[in-house]
Amino acid sequence: MSGLIEIPSSGTCHYDISSNSALWLEEQRARSLADYEILDSAPEISFDDLTYLAASFCNAAAALICFFTPDGQWVKASWAGTTHAARLHHLPRHAKLYDPGLHTSGGILLQTGAAGPDLAACKLRILAAAPLAAPDGLALGSLLLLDRRERALTDGQLATLSKLTAQTTRLLELRRTLVGLSEANARLGQQNMTDALTGIPNRRAYDHRLAVEVSRAGRTGDALCLLLADIDQFKAYNDEYGHPAGDTALQCVARLLRGALRPYDFLARYGGEEFAIVLPSTDLTDALMVAERIRALVAGADLPHRKLSVSLGVSRLDIESGPRALMLAADNGLYRAKAAGRNKVVIGKLREDDVAGSARA
Ligand code: GH3
Ligand code: MG
Ligand code: MG
Repeated sequence: MSGLIEIPSSGTCHYDISSNSALWLEEQRARSLADYEILDSAPEISFDDLTYLAASFCNAAAALICFFTPDGQWVKASWAGTTHAARLHHLPRHAKLYDPGLHTSGGILLQTGAAGPDLAACKLRILAAAPLAAPDGLALGSLLLLDRRERALTDGQLATLSKLTAQTTRLLELRRTLVGLSEANARLGQQNMTDALTGIPNRRAYDHRLAVEVSRAGRTGDALCLLLADIDQFKAYNDEYGHPAGDTALQCVARLLRGALRPYDFLARYGGEEFAIVLPSTDLTDALMVAERIRALVAGADLPHRKLSVSLGVSRLDIESGPRALMLAADNGLYRAKAAGRNKVVIGKLREDDVAGSARA
């Protein structure tokens, strides 16, 4: 025997799978479930508790919360008395529990009788299958009540099952909100680390990455070099062609620099018209070659109004002195490249008080 009652507050629920729309519905469901990031998620006590409450209130041998997949149902949470706990534990990852097509509306399907083969193997029958639906009514899964024998649920048990189903749905919606929030958070974090004008990492990202690379170099003993590149007489360029033209030139230079580097080199806009380039696993000879390549590339590039050049300071990490000394040395190289007439590459040196300061830092 099987019957159907409507859940008063859950609205319509699209279980109705005519053969034409089955595939479409399956795709919709997969998309909707992805928003909840529920499939294959870790066990959660709040879902486990709901199955415990459902089984206890309805005096059932077991309860499951499951979600539909193209291959059956994936069980998110389950509770079972001692007789069935071990058997349920051995359900396949995508079990065939029952045919969701048995539902024809948003109501609770009662005593479906026809348990799928994986439930039958556990010697369990379905007392009730309460649909878990997305706000648009799309059926995502079920709260299943199971027992050895079919029997009618009392009105009180049915009312409780409806409440617990609604509670499970609310929990799902909360989960979707959290997923959305954490994605928004990740996007914000990304924006915080990116320079809005050039789209390359900003100073904050640079500080973070430099610390990571210095610590890696300390661990592995690999060489690590730093380049600081500053556009020459950029103020004059702005004065001649205007600030928007200066912005475009900055974007062009950033693109040129990125194109001259290996994927694992790290380029950031350090500030104004200054760029920092971290070169992991690179010794000073190779770093000089990279710097010279960049210098020649920028000097030879046809920018919208006229040519520009960059000066570069180069330094190599001395693990004893740390990142501050690496930075100071590159800055010293840059200063001397400017002093030597610009459009130059110079290896930086630490001054005596820099060395002392870095050792203290
Ligand atoms: P030097 O060769 O000594 O580096 O000379 P410089 O003119 O490049 O250096 P200075 O520090 O005197 O001027 C830097 C200029 O870079 C001034 C500033 O307006 C410009 N600048 C910094 N950030 C931006 C930006 O985001 N957009 C534009 N258009 N200009 C910028
Ligand atoms: Mg400059
Ligand atoms: Mg500058």
